[in-house]
Amino acid sequence: MPHIAFVPMSGLRVREDELLEMGMTLPGLKRRADALSELPALGLLTLAGMTPEPWSCSLHETSRATKQAVEEIIATHPTLVAVSALTASVLDAYQLSRALNAGGVPTVIGGLHATACPDDAIQHCTAAVAGEGEPVWHQVLGDVRGGQLGGIYRPTRPFDLCQAPVPRFDLLGERRRPRFLLQTERGCPFACEFCGASRLLGPFREKSIEKIGDELAALRQFDSSPWLELADDNTFANRSDVDQLLDLLRQANVRYFTESDWRLGERPEVLKGLAASGCRQVLVGIESMVFRYPGMGAKQAELDRMMDAVSAVQEAGVVVNGCFIVGADGETDESLDRLVAFILESPLAEVQITLQTPFPGTMLYNRLVQQGRLIEDRDWSHFTLFDVTYRPDAMTVEQLEAGFRRVLRAVFSPAASERRSQLRKSIWHQAGERI
Ligand code: SF4
Repeated sequence: MPHIAFVPMSGLRVREDELLEMGMTLPGLKRRADALSELPALGLLTLAGMTPEPWSCSLHETSRATKQAVEEIIATHPTLVAVSALTASVLDAYQLSRALNAGGVPTVIGGLHATACPDDAIQHCTAAVAGEGEPVWHQVLGDVRGGQLGGIYRPTRPFDLCQAPVPRFDLLGERRRPRFLLQTERGCPFACEFCGASRLLGPFREKSIEKIGDELAALRQFDSSPWLELADDNTFANRSDVDQLLDLLRQANVRYFTESDWRLGERPEVLKGLAASGCRQVLVGIESMVFRYPGMGAKQAELDRMMDAVSAVQEAGVVVNGCFIVGADGETDESLDRLVAFILESPLAEVQITLQTPFPGTMLYNRLVQQGRLIEDRDWSHFTLFDVTYRPDAMTVEQLEAGFRRVLRAVFSPAASERRSQLRKSIWHQAGERI
């Protein structure tokens, strides 16, 4: 019987030593890192869901290409190993693939990095998928069985999410997950310069309410009231049937985190049913305090207006996790001081701070390459969101590294974290949540 081993290269990565040490002790950072590393690999589970008989499937989550990981995968006697990786973990994925290829096992790699850099990926894997996996998956399987797997597979049209299979959550095994993933849409109507997820896998599309219902029913076989993270780039952004989606989530008895843009706070018709649908936290990109990124479209607005919208979401019983990018053009030590002062006084009940990172496939990457600003000796493993990968325009690399650490220390200090924790409790309490 042909067998396919799915291997997500998981885990949050940080290269810079001092930051790595801090990350282990700052409460807000550690909690988020732990949550991310526990998220199931939805893309591969979805491909497993559309893998027909007589194929059998197994899942092998690993963060490194260790000998043990390779042996565990080979022990399943795979006909094919399918690997997914983000940029920061792609060198480990390549190493794993080379070890498997050396043992005679063919590999195919997919994900955002392979999509942006398929010519790079194909140097290390038998085949690479540049784009969504679903439209080419049956061709990949057919080619493996015919002994013809190889080269770059490129979908010729966007995948119709209404044809999405139910992901094989059963492959996750017995280990209890703090959160599951559910996708209600793919892509984003905006095109922020630094964002790859919104464009690399095709245009903005929505999954039908019926399909979302099927996935919720499958998830509830594992947990009757699961915590979810919606694997969306901008939930509710253009959705015409928001009422139905909120109603479906409410009836499914889930609690969930998601990402949206600040304009959610100006939509009272959505806010009125948001907390009741199980929504507990929304990530909202405030982005840079010093630079307006091209492509933000209607998301670009004055800070006061954005913060009014944040307050409206929180008054509706949903915590806003304000996301900030440090290191955009124009950033200085003074602007970082202003950022810290703003966050410590702001109503935001949760924050996320990352370094500007020019992921391949983004317009930001192309611009910095054109300007000759990428740091040549920092390979893909530095593209972690916590390591500097380019030369800033108004600071040195060392100043930006030190400034970023200073911001994290201040924003995630025990006192500041406790203040936000109290804010979250108060918001959820008002929404009727027992914490
Ligand atoms: S709004 Fe968010 S998901 Fe959409 S393009 Fe911008 S950063 Fe990406």
